[in-house]
Amino acid sequence: MKTALIIGSGPAGLMAAETLSAAGFSVTVAEAKPSVGRKFLMAGKSGLNLTKDEDLSKFQAAFDPASWMTPIVAEFSPTDVADWAKGLRQEVFTGSSLRVFPKAMKASPLLRAWMGRLNAQGVQLQTRWRWVDWKDGFVFDTPEGSQTNSPDVCILALGGASWARLGSDGAWAEILKAKNIEVTPFKPANMGVIVNWSPHMERHFGAPVKGVVLKSGKLTHKGEFVISARGLEGGGIYAVSKALWDNQPLTVDLMPDWEATKIFARMKQQPVKQSLANRLRKALRLDPAKIALLQEFARPLPEGMELAKLIKSLPMKYDGPRPMDEAISTAGGVAQSALTDGLMFKDHPGVYAVGEMLDWEAPTGGYLINACLATGRWAAQDAIKRGV
Ligand SMILES: Cc1cc2nc3c(=O)[nH]c(=O)nc-3n(C[C@H](O)[C@H](O)[C@H](O)COP(=O)(O)OP(=O)(O)OC[C@H]3O[C@@H](n4cnc5c(N)ncnc54)[C@H](O)[C@@H]3O)c2cc1C
Repeated sequence: MKTALIIGSGPAGLMAAETLSAAGFSVTVAEAKPSVGRKFLMAGKSGLNLTKDEDLSKFQAAFDPASWMTPIVAEFSPTDVADWAKGLRQEVFTGSSLRVFPKAMKASPLLRAWMGRLNAQGVQLQTRWRWVDWKDGFVFDTPEGSQTNSPDVCILALGGASWARLGSDGAWAEILKAKNIEVTPFKPANMGVIVNWSPHMERHFGAPVKGVVLKSGKLTHKGEFVISARGLEGGGIYAVSKALWDNQPLTVDLMPDWEATKIFARMKQQPVKQSLANRLRKALRLDPAKIALLQEFARPLPEGMELAKLIKSLPMKYDGPRPMDEAISTAGGVAQSALTDGLMFKDHPGVYAVGEMLDWEAPTGGYLINACLATGRWAAQDAIKRGV
């Protein structure tokens, strides 16, 4: 029986384990933490967005570099992900903006069912096994001391470099660099930005700002974001975060469905003796969070057409990105040039890298988990085809 070692028990590693064990490999999953899939479980806290129910070509175009992920997500597409979840008896539904979630919303029922399947397929799990070196074999620090494993196939699935407390600390980059493997420096993707708010904003912390258009650099996104104590975060901000990382100015259109002329005309109908905040609320139905943002970023507010233009394009001054450890995902990682099309290291036959540790990025919306699952499966299938 051929042996396979999977290092890392996130969605990418577990999918590699599922595929190889189904093909008859004797599979061991080694995980540094005391339990599996901690980031996956965290992802489920606010609703596990497994994939996006959109046209495949649109789905493929969301990745950067799109060309790398195109064939891989075609092999394990949004439809396949939904079917796979259903196969684990997890019903899914498509929510707003085509995002697909398990009905349970959380990740734990799915992970439990998945681990049950892996167990039934004979997958061995070694927790508290931390991969620390790559010499003649794969060297681990374990509670029983140092262990070296020399499998026929090894799939590295160690995740990116954010939320280190959940396991993915990016420390693996040094092990790979020592092997002369090209690793692109990490940077946060899908990250929030810092805003040093005035005390007036405190009562809006946690407020969602919905139905807006955000613009930064060449990026435009219609959606929503959240005002937090630390700054701005949420899907809309993450969608333009690539430009924010380059410190590009950020603007928000608070009323994308109205022209400035219509805003101006409606405001003009309001008696000027009322406070400006009241007029904004009555004439435009702007909610308190949007009015607070206007006042925070553009006080003293102008009147007339100048005000209408500001509502259409309010500059939101920020003080740089939030720390990388808070990012939903990270860009950078194992360079595409280091790998074959099958995700095997060109200079290390039988050793693969999958998931977020690869140098690709995508917005939130289900792209991340779908691609992690797809790369795990893709590499495992390559190993099966090679018949190592
Ligand atoms: C708060 C939050 C919410 C998210 N929500 C979503 C969402 O709804 N939808 C979505 O698509 N994506 C979401 N993501 C992103 C998604 O969770 C990740 O992209 C995905 O988990 C990456 O999968 P992976 O298997 O590549 O790595 P990971 O899930 O990070 O797993 C890597 C594993 O490797 C282990 N490991 C690391 N180093 C070692 C070592 N040296 N030795 C042994 N083991 C090691 C880690 O402990 C970890 O268990 C979210 C992320 C966060 C932080």
